[in-house]
Amino acid sequence: MTEQVKRVYRFGKDSQGVNVTEGAASMKGVLGGKGANLAEMANIGLPVPPGFTITCQTCMEYANAGNVWPDGALDEIRAYRVDLEERMGKKIGDASDPLLVSVRSGAPMSMPGMMDTVLNLGLNDESIQGLIAQTGNPRFAWDSYRRFIQMFSNVVIGLDGDLFENAIIAMKQRRGAASDTDLTAEDLAELVSEFKAIFSQNTSAADYPSLVVDGEVRFPQDPMVQLQLAIEAVFGSWNNPRATLYRQKNKIADDLGTAVNVQCMVFGNKGNTSATGVAFTRNPADGTKEFYGDYLVNAQGEDVVAGIRNTSPISELKHVEGLTEAGQELEDVFVLLENHFRDMMDIEFTIEQGKLWMLQTRAGKRTAASALKVAIDMQREGLISKEEAVCCVEPSQLDQLLHPQFDKNARYDVLARGLNASPGAAVGKVVFSAADAVEAAERGEKTVLVRWETTPDDLAGMIAAEGILTSHGGKTSHAAVIARGMGAPCVCGAEALRIDAEKKQATVVGTDVVLREGDIISLDGTTGIVVLGAVDLVQPELTGDLDTILEWADEFRTLGVRANADNPEDAQLSREFGAEGIGLDRTEHMFLGERKQIIQSFILNEDEETREKAIADLYAAQTGDFYGMFKAMDGLPVIVRLLDPPLHEFLESPRTLDVEIARMEASGADARAVAEKRALLAKIDSFVEANPMLGLRGCRLGIVYPILPVMQVRAIATAAARLKKEGLDPRPEIMIPLVSTVNELAKLREVAQRTIAEVVEAEGVELHLEIGTMIELPRAAVTADEIATQADFFSFGTNDLTQTTFGFSRDDVEGEFIPQYLTEKLLPYNPFATIDPGVAKLVKMGVDLGRQGNPDLTVGVCGEHGGDPDSIHAFHKIGLDYVSCSPYRVPVARLAAAQAALK
Ligand code: ADP
Ligand code: MG
Ligand code: MG
Repeated sequence: MTEQVKRVYRFGKDSQGVNVTEGAASMKGVLGGKGANLAEMANIGLPVPPGFTITCQTCMEYANAGNVWPDGALDEIRAYRVDLEERMGKKIGDASDPLLVSVRSGAPMSMPGMMDTVLNLGLNDESIQGLIAQTGNPRFAWDSYRRFIQMFSNVVIGLDGDLFENAIIAMKQRRGAASDTDLTAEDLAELVSEFKAIFSQNTSAADYPSLVVDGEVRFPQDPMVQLQLAIEAVFGSWNNPRATLYRQKNKIADDLGTAVNVQCMVFGNKGNTSATGVAFTRNPADGTKEFYGDYLVNAQGEDVVAGIRNTSPISELKHVEGLTEAGQELEDVFVLLENHFRDMMDIEFTIEQGKLWMLQTRAGKRTAASALKVAIDMQREGLISKEEAVCCVEPSQLDQLLHPQFDKNARYDVLARGLNASPGAAVGKVVFSAADAVEAAERGEKTVLVRWETTPDDLAGMIAAEGILTSHGGKTSHAAVIARGMGAPCVCGAEALRIDAEKKQATVVGTDVVLREGDIISLDGTTGIVVLGAVDLVQPELTGDLDTILEWADEFRTLGVRANADNPEDAQLSREFGAEGIGLDRTEHMFLGERKQIIQSFILNEDEETREKAIADLYAAQTGDFYGMFKAMDGLPVIVRLLDPPLHEFLESPRTLDVEIARMEASGADARAVAEKRALLAKIDSFVEANPMLGLRGCRLGIVYPILPVMQVRAIATAAARLKKEGLDPRPEIMIPLVSTVNELAKLREVAQRTIAEVVEAEGVELHLEIGTMIELPRAAVTADEIATQADFFSFGTNDLTQTTFGFSRDDVEGEFIPQYLTEKLLPYNPFATIDPGVAKLVKMGVDLGRQGNPDLTVGVCGEHGGDPDSIHAFHKIGLDYVSCSPYRVPVARLAAAQAALK
């Protein structure tokens, strides 16, 4: 016998005022975040409007069965509806005293992109009379009904919201009303009739056969039908494109499902002792310990975030007549919630005729600066431990702090000011739609997305844009919340901006500026400033808070953190960020610019003398480079990788040469010159490989051209010897790339050792240079025990290891089929960004075998993955000694490594 699964959970009190909540905060996987925390708030005695939650698992079962209800689920919902009606002493749809509910989605993770909320469900042509009778307020009742029809039509059925907005505008024009609040009860009753007609005309009978009455679609009057359709719409929204995109970007599993909360309505729009608002227990922008947020008197639902009316700051609430008591109670709730959840919380509340109701709480989204300050403050307040403080800062968020800002010395005129909603600065071309931002990004152009206010539909554009600018909405508006979460700079509520998205232009009140698509603007989300034209950006200085958290992180992490750098400036920078060495110094980066000529003359000339001259020049240049690097990293290891890329990368492209020759011939150029070019082309052609990434590169170069590694090792050893003579402590290590057999390594190790011995002899200085290899081919990983006998260290080159394990050419696949693979879930995420489990298995095998072959082996990773928090967790588990990443990722890696150790 299968056990009956429970699909519905109660929250809130019964008719006697006894808490009958069945859930708790720990049940997010079942009840979703919203439902679990509503239960938790009820359990700790906070005023939560009663209701019930339908589980996430029910959503998945419904979706997996092709939108078919699991057996018994609807009966259970009906039973809980009756239970709720008994608890409230009112019935949904009742003609004399109706109970109204909201239907709210709530996944285990906070997820924009899911279905919006439906408020006032249960109203129909009969119960509206009951609401009027009960409240003695026909205007309120009709306004509630028209809002319900509007939301239900838009959110549940998917009708265009403009159909209804336009009807309101037309009504206001007819009545000469300036704002919605000027419309009378009669006006609103008339709107309700119009809305119902709009509903009938625009809803497809084929899609909603159950709504057809007398051959015509009608707005549903049966509350159970309303409720069931609304719940089905929430379930359906789990798989809508917005939600799917969001999950993909945030690596949220697709099989979690969303819960549905059905909750008694409370009304913030019942006059001047009613209000609604959103708040944070601390400042989510900078972490200051203060109550932060906005409220609106006499308003309902999302009026606050929609930016329709101008909000007031939460700190003023308790000074408003009629709201003092509720305002004070709210502040007590803030403290209680922080102490209970031991985190900075985000809160939604409504005050109905002086009585406070809590509608939602969750951990507050915050900027990196705020996250650091809150973590440190809470640790010092004794609310959380140091370990918890380290764990409650999201490593990838630190990027934000390392984001560019306006150069303090830059001069510019402020075009407009708005709210500093999300820090960082951006420069880009103006675009007026999310689609244009996406298209521009595909062309490689940087944009600033300019919108009246953003909606979840704009998500893809917000991701694609460098920055976001809105003319409406406060610091808790959609644009602000999402931008902060993504770490994208955002200025919102720049009221001087008059945007005509259709014409793709905007004017700025008080100026004669007309912004058109493609115009360059700059914005600073830290200050809220918008500037016409490009402002110079600079990297910010790091605050003390970051250092504090990173120092704490260093106490807990066991994984070392090094940087990938190939010039003294980057090396210095990474050292300042806390790198404990250089894990990868790519020497080919030293062969760019003017040096390219030298390496070309080595590659292309047969003549011994020219080649020797080229090698001598390279030696001189490289010795200088290494000297600078080792000096910057004095006392710390610097792993220098010997020349790695296929030689053609240093040569001109045959295609360009071809074109040049054709041009010369056409213009009747000197025959000798043409012949010379042709000879050059033939020579270059001889280096062309069908598959250069799998051709003559890495250690194979050193075997075919032994003079190259000799030159490089000599330069390394000589630079080290010079520094030693100056009394410094250089610690270069020599890394031989792309080894697949132990024989290759043994041969090159011998070459390197001989060369070092010669330098020691010549310079008269003792040198102990470690020699190791990169493990970036599957064969190397599976024969690591043999290879380790010839290596002092391993560094896993996970970029190439990913390419060669999958047989994917990164440059070819990322733009081509990987996106499709991700959409079709053939891959859970991009394996070039986060280490793939299969590749990680090879790394583990390489580490284990390697340590068998050489117990003193040092092992690290130097691929792109070394700076990716998820990959760092995997590397910690495998037991690497260190990760190495780009300088700006070093702080991220330090924090992620600590979190991996604490997990
Ligand atoms: P979201 O997940 O987008 O925040 P919510 O379910 O929190 O959506 O609903 C949005 C808003 O609707 C809430 O902040 C609140 O103002 C209003 N709301 C939801 N349920 C109720 C209710 N039972 N009574 C009054 N207002 C409600
Ligand atoms: Mg919403
Ligand atoms: Mg909410």
